[in-house]
Amino acid sequence: MAKLQPGPKLQPVRGTHDILGDKARAFRFIQGVFQDVAIRFGHQEISTPIFEFTEVFKRTLGETSDVVSKEMYTFEDRGGEFLTLRPEYTAGIARAFISNGLQQSLPCKFYGFGPMFRYERPQKGRMRQFHQMDVEILGVPEPQADIEVLAIAATLLTELKLIDDVTLEINSLGDTESRNDYRDALVTYFEAHKDQLSEDSLARLTKNPMRILDSKDEGDRALVENAPRISAYYNDPTKAFFDEVISGLDALDIKYVINERLVRGLDYYCHTAFEFITTKLGAQGTVLAGGRYDGLMELMGGPPTAGIGWAAGMERMAELVSPDLVLNEPRPIALIPVGPDCQSEALKIAQQLRIAGHAVHMSYKGNMKKRMKRANNANANEAVIIGEDELARGMATIKNLNDGKQQEIALDKILNYLDQYLSLEVKKR
Ligand code: ATP
Ligand code: MG
Repeated sequence: MAKLQPGPKLQPVRGTHDILGDKARAFRFIQGVFQDVAIRFGHQEISTPIFEFTEVFKRTLGETSDVVSKEMYTFEDRGGEFLTLRPEYTAGIARAFISNGLQQSLPCKFYGFGPMFRYERPQKGRMRQFHQMDVEILGVPEPQADIEVLAIAATLLTELKLIDDVTLEINSLGDTESRNDYRDALVTYFEAHKDQLSEDSLARLTKNPMRILDSKDEGDRALVENAPRISAYYNDPTKAFFDEVISGLDALDIKYVINERLVRGLDYYCHTAFEFITTKLGAQGTVLAGGRYDGLMELMGGPPTAGIGWAAGMERMAELVSPDLVLNEPRPIALIPVGPDCQSEALKIAQQLRIAGHAVHMSYKGNMKKRMKRANNANANEAVIIGEDELARGMATIKNLNDGKQQEIALDKILNYLDQYLSLEVKKR
């Protein structure tokens, strides 16, 4: 077999990244807060496969959506099945709901996180493998579920200390009647300005006219400015539903702005649509997006089941969170055996310390200066030095790496002495 060539060729695939160091720490931190918040809201973890039958996404995301028409990683497997790497979570969760017969146990509240795959043009905040955190509530047609998923998002962003960096934009797409009326009005309006529409939007006009409101094309945007407004087409049930969502936000003191241009193209979306947006990330400013999708489950061939949820981009959140907040790992203890006869005793002490909840960096070899340098690099609080002479007397040397002071201490007292460094996090367990 040909060897992989070292050097510049050995790069990650375009649009993919290794996650290590500070970024890995930020990811773990964000995930930890997310899980904690989701559990406090009564959500259960769900982990669906990374790949599904292509149909699962094609049907639910719609042939005309960007994701299906341009961005899916689809391949034929060795058995001739067409499979797709998941571009988002909701479709997989809806599929899992049907496969597992969960209509018997409604409502279902889920959370999940993991990698997603989209063939996009890589740029800042836009990758081909990226990570999302996702929250869904199935089986609750009332606006309480909309309020609850928004509360989860706001709580997460608050605990990540990002709430002041983002704006919640919210809109109502209305129920089927309002939505259809609005769509007709939009088609009439854009038909009259057909010659000014971009090629993409012209295609959307017949298949998915609401998507035109989302267009990034300059010419389209000018047209969109004067397009009919959705709120003019709300019927009474739509108004009542939206009012209740808004009152919930007010009651929880969650700030928002209503953005009537915020839409979702597909028919199964209804009522609430929302995004948390920041100006701190340049062009890719949406950190979290979601909405209600009451028609989705039927479209997938399942029992009619209301649904609402959101997904947040972890890479974008990781860019925003303050490193001070992330750096909360307990400082380790450095364990330094001097001489081969001390190895097994050091091993035992390290194990005891680790079981007691300490992080221990074992020093393997090198002269004392090098080992101390490594202990400092690991940000250790204390170095426990086990030398042959001390060991013979049942003692070890402890060096405080903050002030450089050292003292001898009996081996059976080490654990007690080092207890002071157990982080609060660890003590809580
Ligand atoms: P956009 O309009 O930016 O393409 P989208 O509508 O495709 O967004 P969603 O499918 O709603 O995005 O995904 C939810 C969130 O996931 C986004 O708000 C963003 O934070 C993140 N996200 C989406 N695509 C990518 C990507 N290619 N790279 C990194 N993060 C992404
Ligand atoms: Mg996209």
